[in-house]
Amino acid sequence: MTEKASGKKASESGRGKPAGAGKPESRTALVRRARRIDRELAEVYSYAHPELDFENPFQLVVATVLSAQTTDLRVNQTTPALFAKYPTPEDLAAANPEEVEEILRPTGFFRAKTKSVIGLSKALVEDFGGEVPGRLEDLVKLPGVGRKTAFVVLGNAYGRPGITVDTHFQRLVRRFRWTAETDPEKIEAAISELFPKSAWTDLSHHVIWHGRRICHARKPACGACPIAPLCPAYGEGETDPDKARKLLKYEKGGFPGQRLNPPQSYLDAGGKPAPPLGSA
Ligand code: SF4
Repeated sequence: MTEKASGKKASESGRGKPAGAGKPESRTALVRRARRIDRELAEVYSYAHPELDFENPFQLVVATVLSAQTTDLRVNQTTPALFAKYPTPEDLAAANPEEVEEILRPTGFFRAKTKSVIGLSKALVEDFGGEVPGRLEDLVKLPGVGRKTAFVVLGNAYGRPGITVDTHFQRLVRRFRWTAETDPEKIEAAISELFPKSAWTDLSHHVIWHGRRICHARKPACGACPIAPLCPAYGEGETDPDKARKLLKYEKGGFPGQRLNPPQSYLDAGGKPAPPLGSA
């Protein structure tokens, strides 16, 4: 745990003033600072991984579509019943929509989501032989699948590097002053130039985990933030360490993140339930 998570203010960190003070940052300095932020986040969230439970690309694409406007934990509580009843795209494509709606009700917007996942399954069966395609240009043609969902699938089910520009990612990269862009595709292009391709998928996890746990939309916990000395937006949120620690979001379900069933390969690699953030 770095000094910010242990409660020191940025000015006490021994690494100088928070970034952003003084003259404009050169491109080289920006790249260095961006990569340093990612290294720090990788240390804090060494166990960062996709927070949706899935066992194959089909389950991941469906779970990602279902995750709109709800938590990953809620999706993880819902998908076991869905995949037990409809384990393949063929099964879901032929499903009775009313029965699917009943299962998906807890995730909200369940009628639209039912339409999307049945439509998506039909397209997989009719156009891709019942397999989830491993190419961006094919994935984005599927009903309910945009670039964000496509990159989640490519990065986490196929091991192809991708930047996931979700709401957390958009907010944080602007706070970090990595880019001033607001359009997701332009953000993706700008950030892809700051990092090597091999880092894209993990970078997405680190930034999204930080957004979920510390750098919240409305009340960022700056006083408990491990990257405060590198962040030009330090001070946008609570800077008092004790008050900031109270804002931290804790792990759910006994495992790091919101997964109820972390994959065995992840547990074998040393994954373990994380202590509550800020407890060190
Ligand atoms: S919590 Fe505050 S200091 Fe940390 S990244 Fe967010 S805005 Fe910056």
